[in-house]
Amino acid sequence: MGIRLNGVELAKKFKAEIKDTIAKEKNMGKRTPSLASIIIGEDGGSLSYIKNQVKISEELGINYEVLRFPKSISEDEIIEYLEELNKSSNVDGIILQLPLPGAFNEGRIIESISYKKDVDSLTDINIGKFYKGEESFIPCTARSVLQLIKSTCDDLRGKKAVVVGRSNIVGKPTSYLLLNEHCTVTICHSNTKELKDICKSADILVTALGIPNFITVDYVKKEAIVIDVGTTLVDGKIRGDVDFDSVIEVASYVSPVPGGVGAMTTTMLMKNTCEAWLKNVCEDTYSNSSK
Ligand code: NAP
Repeated sequence: MGIRLNGVELAKKFKAEIKDTIAKEKNMGKRTPSLASIIIGEDGGSLSYIKNQVKISEELGINYEVLRFPKSISEDEIIEYLEELNKSSNVDGIILQLPLPGAFNEGRIIESISYKKDVDSLTDINIGKFYKGEESFIPCTARSVLQLIKSTCDDLRGKKAVVVGRSNIVGKPTSYLLLNEHCTVTICHSNTKELKDICKSADILVTALGIPNFITVDYVKKEAIVIDVGTTLVDGKIRGDVDFDSVIEVASYVSPVPGGVGAMTTTMLMKNTCEAWLKNVCEDTYSNSSK
């Protein structure tokens, strides 16, 4: 019988580290980190996500500023506003709550966020830098997956990793992070043949399909690490892609849904914000001292 990975506990560990870093720097006179959250229209973004972001920011000592706009606002006005935030030396991170309502050109608005403040890793520049291995913000879900895997085993070198799903927000960045850890990575999708056999060969299996209970014990190698990213609402409850009860019988570790990857993502967003802030306040210190 394997071990149930606890995303809530792991998030607590990261939150403690972030809180400690912020408190120490603030004690030395640095300003408070600040995250601007743009909400357009009444339904812009999910209310529960935003509530969770507000709660965790408060807990960590990050100033979370909600900027609400009516859906009647023009695209140009939003972009002008974002450009102001880009210039502001008191704003470290900007998150645009998606999806946007109505006929907004999401891509155009996203691209007007400075990549230096793009803590949600949405802009082309940030994503390009990420895949080139340059300094960038790491997409939060993929970072959560990697941290859960690393909580079981530090050295992933040479492990066979299979990622089911090839989306830009989950499958691809997760595969890339595992490749950077020197895993041998196979990416699967809806056209993959012999999916079961491929999954069954994995030391690390990450599933991001969005099909509840799709991954049964037949897909899992003995002692594998299984990370379930899937979240689908079934009869009012969130379900993962993995048939947890059967899979935990053979795997060494399995992340549950809820309480696994999803419990980590907001904390990873705050980690990105803290990193942006540290960079800004250290640059301030440097430029002040060199004046
Ligand atoms: P997506 O864009 O719909 O991608 C799903 C992927 O699964 C696609 O690549 C698709 O292949 C593949 N797929 C679908 N059916 C398949 C099958 N029968 N066999 C093999 N592959 C199959 O979804 P996403 O945005 O990546 O999200 C995936 C899941 O993660 C969703 O349930 C989502 O709600 C969840 N999620 C959770 C978090 C979190 O924080 N926990 C964050 C983001 C997403 P094709 O490319 O060929 O279509």
